[in-house]
Amino acid sequence: MIGAIIGDIVGSRFEFGAAPQEGFELFTPDCSYTDDTICTVAIADAVLNGRDYQESLLDWCRRYPDPMGAYGSRFEQWIHSEHPHPMNSFGNGSAMRVSPIGWLFDEWEDVIEEAKKSAAVSHNHPEGIKGAQCIAETICWLRLMRFSKPDVEKKVRKFFGYELPPMRDILKIGSEGHFDGTCQETVPMALRCFMDANSFEETIRLAVLCDGDTDTKACIAGSVAEAYYQVPEWMINKAVDYLPEDMLGILGQFYERIKDSCGPQRK
Ligand SMILES: [Mg+2]
Repeated sequence: MIGAIIGDIVGSRFEFGAAPQEGFELFTPDCSYTDDTICTVAIADAVLNGRDYQESLLDWCRRYPDPMGAYGSRFEQWIHSEHPHPMNSFGNGSAMRVSPIGWLFDEWEDVIEEAKKSAAVSHNHPEGIKGAQCIAETICWLRLMRFSKPDVEKKVRKFFGYELPPMRDILKIGSEGHFDGTCQETVPMALRCFMDANSFEETIRLAVLCDGDTDTKACIAGSVAEAYYQVPEWMINKAVDYLPEDMLGILGQFYERIKDSCGPQRK
């Protein structure tokens, strides 16, 4: 969960800002948490406290109605609708918020089912659901099954049909100003960043350097990397300084719950 939040905060200032340059500073006063963090906290709160996914998402998003980078326009309508209905969306929002499910459930059937439920309240297009399921399941494969990166790539292809594009292609289309906003694009791109990096920090850096939807790519890549690498303590300390009390409360509850669970493979 903190891996997702760090990715979101580090990527936030590049989503609609100047293109990131090699060696960029990770945490600056221009960074903030965005919708990725708010929605991730909402999903964690739902599972931890037995809340309905929709009710929790609406509560948190209405509590934070104006985050940096804003909500996507259709999701914004959903948040403020009197009777919100799923939007048949395949936006990457379902995958960016799902990571707590990969930690809070240990049986793959539960992970797949809960990821689907967490997505379906708003992102009920098959691709929206698949994106969430793939990221939650990948987290489980890494932390519980201890699959290697090449095995994860094979399984992602076999079970979810995603071909992970080569890094040079992702960097190229990002540098041409392309903005990835769908699960079909962002999920395989974020997974490639994780595959090609050699540390948690490098995963986040690569995802941001790909430009486009920087905060969400880094959020998803960071959420997966947390299941494989130990997240550096200093990065956690920097990130929590950006978060309000109520989010820190859920974060504390989350790590208390998973403290005896299988953690990351590598230091
Ligand atoms: Mg965002």
